[in-house]
Amino acid sequence: MNNTPSLTIPVSEPQLTGNAKTYLLECLDTGWVSSKGRFVTQFEQDFAKLVGTKHAISVSNGTAALHLALLAAGIGPGDEVLVPNLTFAATANAVIHCGATPVLTDVCQLSWAIDLHDAAKRITDRTRAIIPVHLYGVPADMVNIKAFARQHQLCVIEDCAESLGASVVGQATGSIGDLGCFSFFANKLITTGEGGMVTTNNDELADTVRCLRDHGMKPDKRYWHHIAGLNYRMTNMQAALGVAQLEQYEVFLNRRAEVAERYRQGLSDLPGLNWQQVYKDTSPVCWLFSFSLNPQLAGLTVQELAMVLASEGIETRPFFFPLHRQPPYFQDECYPISNWLADNGLSLPTYTALSNAQIDHITCRIRALLSQQGSKHE
Ligand SMILES: *Cc1c(COP(=O)(O)O)cnc(C)c1O
Repeated sequence: MNNTPSLTIPVSEPQLTGNAKTYLLECLDTGWVSSKGRFVTQFEQDFAKLVGTKHAISVSNGTAALHLALLAAGIGPGDEVLVPNLTFAATANAVIHCGATPVLTDVCQLSWAIDLHDAAKRITDRTRAIIPVHLYGVPADMVNIKAFARQHQLCVIEDCAESLGASVVGQATGSIGDLGCFSFFANKLITTGEGGMVTTNNDELADTVRCLRDHGMKPDKRYWHHIAGLNYRMTNMQAALGVAQLEQYEVFLNRRAEVAERYRQGLSDLPGLNWQQVYKDTSPVCWLFSFSLNPQLAGLTVQELAMVLASEGIETRPFFFPLHRQPPYFQDECYPISNWLADNGLSLPTYTALSNAQIDHITCRIRALLSQQGSKHE
């Protein structure tokens, strides 16, 4: 244990460099601390440009983005929405808070994203929308999802909370479906503390999202409520942080790609260890470097591996519990792929300030632990 670094390596860490402090101080100095101010407008403009959509509407968090996207798409009581079983629960919660029903769908073995074969079996005459989640930054099968949605007349709402900058056939995630939803929580690809964004090319959907975000009011008539809205606005302070983050986005993205590549090289050829496969013409980003481990082949479980790493100061993160096993979404079904992945998946520290030496240390420890266990079983 001599050369174990004494400091803990966290699984994630925000990078609050660049103009963050300057822009935040400007908010304090000018008094524009609430949801009006130059940074809100600029963040939305910069974001729309990056994603390549006509509209980008800032909101208070990623869950609010999903909720507004669904409401704008007209999802309500009696409607069903296809949601992958392996995702952060906010994807399903937003559906429930529209009064609709999330229809849990298994994921693909290779991409870990929503499986269209399973989705096809779950279509009913009440199915209105599908929410592909680009898990850990790897895009879902958007080409076929769009064809599937066209065939069944479904609205496509992309959950891009983990995929800012990823693209499919040259189109950024968030610009492929009818609406895209992003999160800027502290552990996401860029952060505004808490924050989110809805992207769309559709003027009507954009208008509805803006109106719902602002208590159901429109700028044309103050204090007149067109619909019973919500207050899901982003503050100028959050947006100030967002503008500073976008200025550095390319650097963040490139470093994360290097981190992922170094992990892949360091962990290649280990029995039972697999990571997500990327669809054709698809360019992923790396939100969290994640893998699944087959305990029969590896000789130990991810839980055992995580425990040893934790004792050495290396923080890891288990996958999301599959939704079908949790009380609010419970389904007495098996969902074999998402169920297995959830039990056998692990995410490693992934952030821009992670050094090559730290990555090498982590991969060395994993290699050593797996080969130790592997040899015991020979
Ligand atoms: C983070 C996340 C969300 C929710 O975003 P918040 O900003 O935390 O509300 C939704 N979906 C996925 C897949 C996420 O990772």
